Amino acid sequence: MNATVIVLGTAQDGGNPQLGSSGRGRPRLVSSMAVVLDDGTTLLADVTPDVRAQIRHLEGTAPYRHRRSRNAVDHITLTHGHMGHYTGLVQFGREAHNAAAVSTWVTPSMAEYLGSNQPWRALIDGAHLDVRAGFGPWDLSDGLSLRLVPVPHRAEFTDTVGISINDEVLFLPDIDSWEAWPAAEEEIGRHRVCLLDASFASLDEIPGRSLADIPHPLVGDTLERFGHLAADRRLILTHLNHSNPANDPDSAVSGQIRAAGFEVASDFMEILLDG
Ligand SMILES: [Zn+2]
Ligand SMILES: [Zn+2]
Repeated sequence: MNATVIVLGTAQDGGNPQLGSSGRGRPRLVSSMAVVLDDGTTLLADVTPDVRAQIRHLEGTAPYRHRRSRNAVDHITLTHGHMGHYTGLVQFGREAHNAAAVSTWVTPSMAEYLGSNQPWRALIDGAHLDVRAGFGPWDLSDGLSLRLVPVPHRAEFTDTVGISINDEVLFLPDIDSWEAWPAAEEEIGRHRVCLLDASFASLDEIPGRSLADIPHPLVGDTLERFGHLAADRRLILTHLNHSNPANDPDSAVSGQIRAAGFEVASDFMEILLDG
């Protein structure tokens, strides 16, 4: 069965523009993606504060219209416990329409966090989310497998993973640095499409904040390190901070990205995977 990746957002956790800030380039929703099979079976990867607008977009897409379930999605998976990646879960509670518990595939650390903090615990106690803890691989459906790939990232609440779909797509919106992840080249090399953390392009983008407090690989480092892998796969940059010049297609950084064979993700881009 064919699967379609539908990119639902491409901004860092605060969105673009952020509250009280003008941002750069076109507005972007917070980073997330859905994988939709031809029969309409749907996995949502990261549930952002923008989830209502993101599901509304999904409802207009071709494969999603084949759905028979009354739930918004069949499966949820989460990269980690920072605000842009899971707080949209509030929309799956008893205040909102949802016919049955949604299978929610997360690491043991994320499961523990959800189970021991409100309002998330109420979603589990009320049978709105059916949490399954582990790293996979799990076969969610015919044509849809999921594996969680641990990566280093500020772990004040939970650990962090990249999300591997069918060993074809790697969704990796947050990582502290490539050096700190020994498996980086091997994992990126085994996927045909990779959506990678490109929060910042330079160290002086956000006056008054130090990147030592919010570490991420810089775009130039990513291009240099993985450029040799770009010929055989799509390397797509996402999770852009509102300050990142890569938001502007006419910036020098955007030119460097294209010259290195990479792409900048855009909201609602679709990628068809072979069945
Ligand atoms: Zn993030
Ligand atoms: Zn994070």
